[in-house]
Amino acid sequence: VKYYLQNIEDKSHLNVFLEVYKEEALKKAEEVDQKFRQGTYGKLAGLVVGLKDLLCYKDHRIQAGSKILEGFESQISGTAVERLIAEDAIIIGRQNCDEFGMGSSNENSPFGPTLNEIDNSRVPGGSSGASAVSVQADMCQVALGSDTGGSVRQPAAFCGIIGLKPTYSRISRHGLIAYASSFDTIGIFSKSIEDNALVLEVIAGKDEYDSTVSKKEVENYTGALNFDKKVKVAYLKETFESEGLNDNIKEKTLNTLNFLRAEGHQVEEITFPLIKYALPTYYILTTAEASSNLSRYDGVKYGYRSPNTEDLLSMYKKSRSEAFGSEVIRRIMLGTFVLSASYYDAYYTKAQKVRRLIKDKTQSILSDYDFIIMPTTPTTAFKIGERKNDPLEMYLADLFTVQASVSGIPAISVPNGTDPEGLPVGLQIMTNDFKESELFSFSKYIL
Ligand code: GLN
Repeated sequence: VKYYLQNIEDKSHLNVFLEVYKEEALKKAEEVDQKFRQGTYGKLAGLVVGLKDLLCYKDHRIQAGSKILEGFESQISGTAVERLIAEDAIIIGRQNCDEFGMGSSNENSPFGPTLNEIDNSRVPGGSSGASAVSVQADMCQVALGSDTGGSVRQPAAFCGIIGLKPTYSRISRHGLIAYASSFDTIGIFSKSIEDNALVLEVIAGKDEYDSTVSKKEVENYTGALNFDKKVKVAYLKETFESEGLNDNIKEKTLNTLNFLRAEGHQVEEITFPLIKYALPTYYILTTAEASSNLSRYDGVKYGYRSPNTEDLLSMYKKSRSEAFGSEVIRRIMLGTFVLSASYYDAYYTKAQKVRRLIKDKTQSILSDYDFIIMPTTPTTAFKIGERKNDPLEMYLADLFTVQASVSGIPAISVPNGTDPEGLPVGLQIMTNDFKESELFSFSKYIL
């Protein structure tokens, strides 16, 4: 704990933590030491964990990187957080993020951007950018983020670490502030596959507080990390033909595919023309869900209330427009528009249908192949400010990660070397629902 606290202090210019639970973490470390001596300690004894500012931790502040939750304290711990603590993990602090998880660069935060440790002029990715940097820069061993469309995998790729988005419904969302409920998953950042597998083992599984969580038994992921079989791997032609794909990333991904071929695995190109609709489908559906989820922040129940109000309506309007950032407002407007009576069928219903088609096709590919491999992102970490004023350009950062989110399948980003500038490149591996065990062992084999 002292080691990580020192790093947090030494690297405070990276702007990772909104709050550090220094005394509390040191006290918990003493307790865990005591338990250690007595020989009765939890599975995560001494594991130092950071939390994205979207995960509720009882009696601690939480504000989803938003002014609208200013001063708000959580009365509950989310299920994942509770399970970490029950196994003697040590929570070290609350981490910066894009407001409500909306963003790809950690620049949509009222607390300012988080910097990538490798090059401080570059973004760490988003929305769980700070959680990725906390692991990258050794400020904690593991961090929990949330991945709605890539927010764990994309920053993991930009920071050169591992980021897992498990199957939708594998981890309870109780205590995770909602962005787009049918996409949101808690995700795990780590430097090793072992740590990632161990944490998933602890936090996954049925939970009476989340009616959508799967009741499927949680596997012993850490006990199944050996990989010794030949597998079938698919890659999508369309991915490699994407306009914005950086040549170096393309080459690195193809090298990995060639390595797998040389090792005797079956690697095949397939086509998936519909995949070009994954990004628009994602943005129509998530903005729709967000506009509904965020309607609860009305200046009455939580956090910020405008001081300049005359009546009830102006209190709602002013509280919301003064506190929400511009990206959140943009998405509430888009979402409200696609859900409005005259456009509902043209956008929302249509996008739901396309989501089904993408999900079915993805699952049918994964019934023939064990894995789909592609780059995690089309580019490496971009410069701070470079895309901030161009939302469409920013949305392209999620080009490759949204397929797994639209389909609900698990996906992981693992480091795949660096480009000539020394910037990390990520490799994304996807597999079928609830096959996290295979995902871990295959990733470990590739690494
Ligand atoms: N960048 C994507 C978005 O802004 C993904 C966000 C996420 O996964 N939370 O929606």
